[in-house]
Amino acid sequence: MVDETDLEHLRRCVELAAEALDAGDEPFGSVLVTGDGTRVFEDHNHVSGGDHTRHPEFAIARWAAEQLTPEQRAAATVYTSGEHCPMCSAAHGWVGLGRIVYASSSQQLTAWLTELGTPAARVRPLPIGEIVPDTDVDGPVPELAEQVRALHVRRHRTS
Ligand SMILES: [Zn+2]
Repeated sequence: MVDETDLEHLRRCVELAAEALDAGDEPFGSVLVTGDGTRVFEDHNHVSGGDHTRHPEFAIARWAAEQLTPEQRAAATVYTSGEHCPMCSAAHGWVGLGRIVYASSSQQLTAWLTELGTPAARVRPLPIGEIVPDTDVDGPVPELAEQVRALHVRRHRTS
């Protein structure tokens, strides 16, 4: 169940995704919110330098492992414009983070990219539940997913 506070954090993720796109990266953005509701870290995709592991959810997992206690990590929520890929889901699980809320799903992304004629990714777009089944997950959110789709259209029409 996604509430107004969740939507506020997700809107920030979509803004970050747009910033990533403007910087020549893939349009993905994520934020980390602790149990008391404080947004403590945010990042967007940074793959334009050639390192395709530079996903924001992966950066969040590593930041959280360094900066938060196990209890704080378990109580924290990761918000993201696009559902975690298998690498980021695994990182999320390994560092013991809590709930995930995404604006758009991997299934949606795969459908959009197929429509846009981009080749299939080498890594299978498995849903979070296939990687870390005990994680509380919410999404997608239709009106925000539509905004994310528009960013991917922009990305793949201009490249
Ligand atoms: Zn990822």
